[in-house]
This record gives sequence, structure tokens and C-alpha cells, in this order.
Amino acid sequence: MESVGGVDYRRAIEELREIADLTGGPDGARRVSWTDEWARARDWLKAKLDDIDCEVETDEAGNLWATSPGDAEEFVILGGHLDSVPNGGWLDGVLDTISALETFRVLAQQDKPVSVRLVDWADEEGARFGRSLLGSSATSGTLNPDEVRGLKDKDGVALPDALREHGVDLDRMNDSHRQIEKALAYLELHIEQGPVLERLGLPVGVVLGTFGVERHAVRFKGQHAHSGSTPMEVRRDAFISAARAATAFRDDAARRDDVRATTGFVNVSPAIVTAFNGLCEMSLDQRALDADVLADMLATARRESERVAEEEGTGVEWEKLWEIEPILFHDDLIQLAEEAVEEVVGRSHRLPSGPLHDAAEMARHMPTVMLFAKSLRGLSHTKEEDTPEEDLELAVQAYHRLAVKAVDWAAKRV
Ligand SMILES: [Zn+2]
Repeated sequence: MESVGGVDYRRAIEELREIADLTGGPDGARRVSWTDEWARARDWLKAKLDDIDCEVETDEAGNLWATSPGDAEEFVILGGHLDSVPNGGWLDGVLDTISALETFRVLAQQDKPVSVRLVDWADEEGARFGRSLLGSSATSGTLNPDEVRGLKDKDGVALPDALREHGVDLDRMNDSHRQIEKALAYLELHIEQGPVLERLGLPVGVVLGTFGVERHAVRFKGQHAHSGSTPMEVRRDAFISAARAATAFRDDAARRDDVRATTGFVNVSPAIVTAFNGLCEMSLDQRALDADVLADMLATARRESERVAEEEGTGVEWEKLWEIEPILFHDDLIQLAEEAVEEVVGRSHRLPSGPLHDAAEMARHMPTVMLFAKSLRGLSHTKEEDTPEEDLELAVQAYHRLAVKAVDWAAKRV
């Protein structure tokens, strides 16, 4: 059977291939936001929407919206992002948009108690200017234009100028908030970009929310000296302090349930073979779905770093680089998502999202849930990103079922 409840999942796969051929190639996807290739992808989507009975508009933040009215003006949003990183994969963001398009196409032909809207967010990836979730954060109200005004791309082009070329005025982007004033729910299907579902042998999973993040620079200060003349017991080796601390951070995370702790950058000074290091700076990125757990991880890491520093005779300083609180999805919608996945696949699994998504911005304002589709080998943001077609088909079906359930659920809240 090609179609389940009207959803044509084969057409969705064909459209995924179409847009990959149009705006990708042997080196991967090329749909970086605020470029000609991205605009071409947008035109492709607009042409698809032309064949559907709906209203289409681009908002002040460059987000593309399509609306199919129902009995009530209030609406459920189906979201995604066509933009990619340079040399990106064929599914990141596009699977969301295409599954939303296919579901929107089906629902647009049906009577429904509430309205349904599709959104293609602008610049989810932040690949050119370094600010992720640009379009959705403007709509959500968390974008401060002054914080991004000075951003430039690698060729020195300023963000406000690139936006203007695509009809967007930075200082008006936040006006796009009006788009969600009557929103009842937000639904998104994304690839997992991690290995969990593949390891469980599942094509689709239900996302509980996005991890909170605590990101710090940790600096150890000792005294560098000659590698030959300085006995071991008198050394104040900043690198050794950092290495011991990094291991402690990792071990703490490994003892807990489904959290992350990562040391990404490590810089030492003087970084020569004939001395041990007097300075070592490293990053610590901690993530958890529970705010209390995240706070406890941070407190534990600070304590461990101080203990190690004292034992090694070094000092330690912490500097906050960035933080975001955990964002939890809606219990009722998580339940509906689980039912939808079980109906299509037979069993379901709940998991947190490590990466942030546009859905996290929407969850600040309305009941939200996401589905994840399996990612092969957990690879994403690379041309190797892939998911078997039969799994994509199941994911599209589960997403459509979720949308049908969510529309009925939302109707009770008007
Ligand atoms: Zn994405």
C-alpha cells in the first residue's frame, strides 16, 4: 500500500531526492542560509506549495509559512528547515520540511477542527554567521538583534547586509512573533544525528526535550620549567592538572544516566618538548535533560577541579562561555507521539536530544514534541549522513499520524 491515511510516503522520499539533486552533489548539500542555493531550495518549496490549496507568506525573519484553514483560526505548526551546513547531509532539516510538506498536503485536502501551518525556518544551522536558530529565535523572541549585528562571514560580509539581500531587516525580525500568537502545538521530525536508535534497532523515536548546556573554559595555572632539571615532586604542571580534571569530568558523566561531559579544546603554554606546561586552558561542555542534574554536574566538576589543582600545586579558574536551560517537550504530545510510533513501527523509545532544534524555541511558547528518525552510524553535518529509505518511510508515516492526533488534541484546547 503506497498510502496510509492519505499520506504518500513514496512521494516524500522522491521529493527528498529531488531537493538533494537540485541543491546538493558529490560534496554534499549546499543550502547554506542567505545564499543563492538556499534561495533555490526555497523556490522549489514554494513551487510545491503552489500546487496545494493554501496561503503562503514569508515573515519578517525570513521564515516561510503556509496556512491551510480549519474550523478554528488557531493552528498546529508542522516545522523544518531547508538550510544546511556546507557539505551537509541530505536529511538534516530537509526530512522535517518534506515530511511536514507531505502531511500538510494531505491535511489541506481535509476538513479539520483547527488550522494547520507549515513553517520552513530560516537559518537554523547558523553555518555562515555562527548564530544557530536565527529565524526561530526571532519568532520566539529570544533573538537580541544587537548581539548578532556585528557578525561577519568568512569573506567579511556583515549579517545585516546578507539579510537585506534576502529581504530581511534585522531590526524587524522579532516582529515575526505575530506568527505564533494563535499556535496550539508544534511538531517536528528530525534525524537523530546520533547512534541511539540504530543501536536499538528502531527506525523512529520520541524526543523528550533538548539538553540543557553548561559550557565553561577551565584554566589551570602552575609554573613551567625545564623538563630535565625539575624533579617530579616539585612540579606545578598545569597540563597534568587539566588532564586529571578532564578524566574526573568524564567519569562523573559516565556514572550518571544519559548525560554528557566533553572536553573539546585544550591549549597549553609554552607547548615545547623541553618544558612542562605552566598554563593549560580547556573547555568543558556539560549536558543533561534535568536542570538539577546539570547543576549538580557543574558543582561536582568545580569541586573536582579544585581538588586536583590543590594536589598538583596549581590554581584553577572557571569562566562561563555559554549556557542554556533544558527544554522539555509536552507530556500529552509525547504520549501521542508514542502512540503514533507504536501504531506504525510496533514499539517506541523515548530519548533526549543532544543538539538544539527550532522546536526548542517553539517549546517556550506552546506544547511541542519531536520525533527522531534513525541516523546511520550517528553521522550528520556530513555528506555521509544517511538513513535507509524504508526507515524514512516509517518516520514519515509516524509523523503524519502524530499530526492527525495532535490536530484532534489541539481542537479541545481552542
Ligand atoms: Zn537540523
